[in-house]
Amino acid sequence: MGLNPLILIVEDEEAISGFISAVLKSNHYDVIKTGKGSEAISMAASHSPDLILLDLGLPDIDGIEVLKRIREWSGLPVIVVSARGHEREKVEALDLGADDYITKPFGTSELLARIRTGIRHSQKSYMGSNAAPDRISVGDLEINFEKRLVTVGGKEIHLTPIEYRIICLLSQHSGKVLTHDFIIREIWGPYCNEIQTLRVNMANIRRKLEENPAEPKYIVTEVGVGYRMIEEL
Ligand code: CA
Repeated sequence: MGLNPLILIVEDEEAISGFISAVLKSNHYDVIKTGKGSEAISMAASHSPDLILLDLGLPDIDGIEVLKRIREWSGLPVIVVSARGHEREKVEALDLGADDYITKPFGTSELLARIRTGIRHSQKSYMGSNAAPDRISVGDLEINFEKRLVTVGGKEIHLTPIEYRIICLLSQHSGKVLTHDFIIREIWGPYCNEIQTLRVNMANIRRKLEENPAEPKYIVTEVGVGYRMIEEL
């Protein structure tokens, strides 16, 4: 009998908290919850959950502050829950070390997928770099890190070195949204802030990778935030 993963729900709206809790319990998660930021910080420490779902709008301490305080001592996965249109807030949370975000209102399958991804990624980093695969594939797309080869449906895709590095970066974090700033810093270093360069590269990557670049299926745009490579089709 395995242990169920434990999720801490931090949400002050009881209807939402109750809904999430019911969904998680029926999908074999254990749940603890609170509507207060201060309590969330102490519960994160005392219960050591596998993942935290953190609403940003809380009555006592701001969710961003809760995240900062937790990140002072813990890398446990945090998925931020925020309202539609609050892109700046999401970017801030991601830059402060949130693992992902989900926008209200969200569906059950989206919530469960994000939680699975969050827990899997934290387990991966736990196991260290030994677990890094030498290739990954999603749908027809395959990235072979050993051969530095990207194929779609078995056909080799010709990429510039920068394009290849962007694809590698996204695929190493697949399922997770990466902010524009994060990608730029990783690819071009800390002194570059050329979001336009990133956009141009991404357009080229999509032209080469995607059947329909206007409706990308491998690398999706998170409006106002960044990009996410899909983990499974
Ligand atoms: Ca709230």
